[in-house]
Amino acid sequence: MNIQQIDLFLTSMKLVQPFRTHQETVTDRESILIKITDDLGYTGWGEVVAFSSPWYTEETIETAWHMLTEFFIPTIIQGEWTSPREVNEALIPWKRNQMAKAGLEMAVWDLFAKRAGVSLAAYIGGVRKRVKAGVVVSMDTPEVMLSTIGSRLAEGYERIKVKIDPANDYEMLQLIRDTYPDIALLADANSAYTLEDLEKLKQLDSLKLLMMEQPLAADDIVEHAELQKHLSTSVCLDESIVSLQDARNAVKLGSCKVMSIKIGRVGGLANAIDIHDLCAEHDIPVWCGGMLETGISRAFHIALASLPSFTIPGDISASNRYWERDVIKPEVVVENGEVMVPEGPGIGYEVDEEFVESISKRKASIHSKATT
Ligand code: MG
Repeated sequence: MNIQQIDLFLTSMKLVQPFRTHQETVTDRESILIKITDDLGYTGWGEVVAFSSPWYTEETIETAWHMLTEFFIPTIIQGEWTSPREVNEALIPWKRNQMAKAGLEMAVWDLFAKRAGVSLAAYIGGVRKRVKAGVVVSMDTPEVMLSTIGSRLAEGYERIKVKIDPANDYEMLQLIRDTYPDIALLADANSAYTLEDLEKLKQLDSLKLLMMEQPLAADDIVEHAELQKHLSTSVCLDESIVSLQDARNAVKLGSCKVMSIKIGRVGGLANAIDIHDLCAEHDIPVWCGGMLETGISRAFHIALASLPSFTIPGDISASNRYWERDVIKPEVVVENGEVMVPEGPGIGYEVDEEFVESISKRKASIHSKATT
């Protein structure tokens, strides 16, 4: 496969409701959408899921734009590629910047699956026709959170995730448990605690949480292992796992009993599949995290969640949970708590390019030298 052209779109979309964590409130979501066109006229789409500020990882939309235009696109645009993994490997010499790499690599996967005439899920060995949907509820007053959770359960979502921090944990979770005693409830701390909070975190064991996500700092793989020894609740790592090596370290040390996999955070779909395979070998269940992403990244997560070890409902929600209008057609819908895995070629959704153009604040078009 020879690349003819790569188009970048820096887009901005308003979330249906602002999304609040203890670090940041996201109202307008910027993304970089990437379109790759090959020598046969096929197109593949990818998405850079970095945020506008570095609250989740060190990357931002602007650092990703810089990395893509100055380093990553020049590295791959002239090559002749026989598989998406080759593209992934070509980017390894450049350090980190996982979300920028992932956006580009995703577009290559979509392209290869389309050239093969199969769905992305089939192309990567997916086994499910439907994946279970979960949803994240923004931090808010207890009344608003309880009513939002009620609405989401009525819509069929099978797993509810809430954000916690030391000022909003036990009491809020206990209230949710009292109101909904049997729901699959997950608490995500986005690194709001340290080991000094051990006694406080041990209190949460009585709430029968499905898991506690990323309680300690992103680089605390060792201390997460210490914490897991003291908790009956499963620790799930999110921000700590940005590479296959991180996943190996976490498994070796016993830092978690569950892992969240996000294609953007781990530097692409090839790495996401490798982390899935490693976890499968060690009987560690995995699930797909979400990134307040557009339908393009969501489509990749739906395909990824069709792999066998994705046994826990992910942050896979309907398009209308986040957007008035999504960038894909048809939009992602949840029926009976599940999302159908598309069977059409590639990601299986059509990107609404006219709409993408209309929400773009900046664009770039890079051509292969062979064609100009
Ligand atoms: Mg998380």
